[in-house]
Amino acid sequence: MRCPTCGADDDRVVDSRPSQDGQAIRRRRECRRCGVRFTTFERIELPELLVRKRSGDVLPFDRSKVLDGMSRAAKGRVPAADLERAATEVEANLRAADQREVSSEQVGLQVLAQLRDLDPVAYVRFASVYKDFQGPEDFEKELSSLRKDAPPKAR
Ligand SMILES: [Zn+2]
Repeated sequence: MRCPTCGADDDRVVDSRPSQDGQAIRRRRECRRCGVRFTTFERIELPELLVRKRSGDVLPFDRSKVLDGMSRAAKGRVPAADLERAATEVEANLRAADQREVSSEQVGLQVLAQLRDLDPVAYVRFASVYKDFQGPEDFEKELSSLRKDAPPKAR
């Protein structure tokens, strides 16, 4: 690490400890040439995940957009903590595929899979936007596939 004072690339670490949130390691370093002490932070770098939209545009994956979309569909029906968890699952599942780039369809399908488990109304609302439903028969089709694949949970 280059010394901010004299520019020498020769230092020793005098202290290492996790930052408050545990997301980084904070290191105190001392320049061997001029003796100045400085601090560096080391963080985990997640590989960038890109999303290719239908228009062909490629944007970095944005978890908050996923969360927004799910929140709109689930408005007042699903606790925020469950949506947070679902958004995390969506990202984890997309990253698990180990591709650098995913399509917006893949993102949408992951969201649908999560909403399906959380709330049928939120699921159908999201599906109606995502799948661009044209009429009531599309809802019927979606609902019947929902009933078929996911029998109601025993209470
Ligand atoms: Zn120095």
